[in-house]
Amino acid sequence: MVRWDCPPRCLSSHVLPVRPHCEELTWHPSHGDGQVRVVRWTCDCEPVFYELCQASGLRFLRRTRRVTIPEGATVAESDRWQAQEADEMWIALLHGLVR
Ligand SMILES: [Zn+2]
Repeated sequence: MVRWDCPPRCLSSHVLPVRPHCEELTWHPSHGDGQVRVVRWTCDCEPVFYELCQASGLRFLRRTRRVTIPEGATVAESDRWQAQEADEMWIALLHGLVR
């Protein structure tokens, strides 16, 4: 979907840099609930990567920071949306329009 110049080991999408009018999402600590299906994901070669997840009929974005931050969780989740809205958020995320 989003093309990026990177080493061949990178097979997944990368998020583009934040645009000037990027909207900020609300990020919550991960619930860690079991029945989550990962629908799409960005390349994990970067310190922060994202997944589009589905749980109980709703979808949300999950952000994982690979660097351990002592004072907080490294995994955060967005609000939950219907599939179509979540898919649009995912596209916006990849294009640097929300973060
Ligand atoms: Zn990569």
